[in-house]
Amino acid sequence: MALDADIKAQLAQYLGLLESDIVLKVSAGADETSVGMLELVDELAGMSSRITVERTELARTPSFSVNRAGIPDSGIVFAGIPLGHEFTSLVLALLQVSGRAPKVEQAVIDQIKDIRGEYRFESFISLSCHNCPDVVQALNLMSVLNPGISHTMIDGAAFKAEAESREVMAVPSVFLNGEFFGSGRMTVEEILAKLGSGPDTSELENKEPFDILVIGGGPAGSSAAIYAARKGIRTGIVAERFGGQVMDTVGIENFISVKYTEGPKLVASLEEHVKEYGVDVMKLQRAKRLEKKELIEVELESGAVLRSKAVIVSTGARWRNIGVPGEAEFKNKGVAYCPHCDGPLFTGKHVAVIGGGNSGIEAAIDLAGIVKHVTVLEFMPELKADAVLQKRLYSLPNVTVIKNVQTKEITGTDKVNGISYIERDTGAEQQITLEGVFVQIGLVPNTDWLADTVERTRFGELVVDRHGATSLPGVFAAGDCTNSAYKQIIISMGSGATAALGAFDYLIRN
Ligand SMILES: Cc1cc2nc3c(=O)[nH]c(=O)nc-3n(C[C@H](O)[C@H](O)[C@H](O)COP(=O)(O)OP(=O)(O)OC[C@H]3O[C@@H](n4cnc5c(N)ncnc54)[C@H](O)[C@@H]3O)c2cc1C
Repeated sequence: MALDADIKAQLAQYLGLLESDIVLKVSAGADETSVGMLELVDELAGMSSRITVERTELARTPSFSVNRAGIPDSGIVFAGIPLGHEFTSLVLALLQVSGRAPKVEQAVIDQIKDIRGEYRFESFISLSCHNCPDVVQALNLMSVLNPGISHTMIDGAAFKAEAESREVMAVPSVFLNGEFFGSGRMTVEEILAKLGSGPDTSELENKEPFDILVIGGGPAGSSAAIYAARKGIRTGIVAERFGGQVMDTVGIENFISVKYTEGPKLVASLEEHVKEYGVDVMKLQRAKRLEKKELIEVELESGAVLRSKAVIVSTGARWRNIGVPGEAEFKNKGVAYCPHCDGPLFTGKHVAVIGGGNSGIEAAIDLAGIVKHVTVLEFMPELKADAVLQKRLYSLPNVTVIKNVQTKEITGTDKVNGISYIERDTGAEQQITLEGVFVQIGLVPNTDWLADTVERTRFGELVVDRHGATSLPGVFAAGDCTNSAYKQIIISMGSGATAALGAFDYLIRN
């Protein structure tokens, strides 16, 4: 049995929502994955009279396509067994192929339908990757809505040789018509923008000035926008990627009053709450300059300029790079930042984790369960991680910890083959042969674009007072991009609320 009783009970409800008959066309052999796949599709067929299974031959074995009976194939193929994080992708594919309306904005549906040409997408995923389902579901949706688009999800663990031959070392990795298209989490809007089919930015140029314009759509920005809009003033939010770091977070257990949630789920509620108040949400837009004239002008990378009486900057933070030779060259070719996502691609291999703080040690413990060996490299003479994590780390047989060392270079040819470091006490250089490097040395605030405009600390954090005001009147800031002592979701939300109230106070006095 491929599915456990709980999942079957939930699935039965979803299958009751199928709007037409579905044919699963299966290409299977005698291998273990094929047997598992046949078990899964037979179980699905056994649960709904609307689902039938046909044997066929597809480009990859084992794989199966999801199609609506009586019309041309949808173009959706699962190569590997879509359980784990991809189970939801399978359920959504069944429902959407059957004709159930997807939960996306009509403007996005229209953009997808308007795309002309042949687009053959393939996405390499791992079943433990929490970033992958978004990409799989976005590409499946595009396949359902546009007959020129097809998508095959490929489980890298089931198609290891193909993943290696195509040099896939990070998931999700997406290929379009055989060429590398992109990697990492991508929303359907981001994929459309990459295809040159994004929303028309000329309309941004003609927007009326805002009372409060929020830059950044993470917890701080969302909270600031809600607080501002609830004052009945014209509020806008510009975000490169709505949700910010929360989109990269698996389990959240410290969002007070919610015992457990997951990043994408929290982001969906945030967006729904923001939209409830009629906030003008401008996604996939990156601010690049801010200038105070009569109004505050914010120039976007698209060239459009937005104007507002007050601005709240909540641009958060991003992974810190180590900045050594090889890091940029081998990104996604052995250099990785997300152990949950990319760890399975290094099964049986030797990897290094750079950074001995909580995130580095958590990553090392996590990876030790998958890879052959983990070497932790820490710059300081001692690890900074909590004692409990260190105790767990040192109990593992396949982990080596090297302290007081400075990473010098990540080496490789077409992919990573080693790392060199300097022993800080002796100055001696050492080299380790390995296949992967996970960088876990913290975060850096997204404030470079404000360097000459607003006071920042030496770490690049925006300096704010207790009202969230920065050194430039009318410009407020909140969340991880500021000099707040701690960086957490709930703290960012609180500071977003403070900045909105501070900005509102500023508006009524100026
Ligand atoms: C892996 C991971 C796990 C975590 N787990 C937890 C946890 O369990 N609990 C917890 O409380 N905290 C956790 N955190 C920390 C928490 O996610 C952050 O403190 C919080 O997201 C900060 O919110 P923010 O709104 O300030 O910034 P961010 O979440 O970083 O959001 C920044 C926003 O600004 C946008 N942006 C950036 N630059 C620009 C620009 N120039 N123009 C326009 N938009 C821009 C981004 O696209 C994004 O929308 C975790 C962080 C990570 C990375």
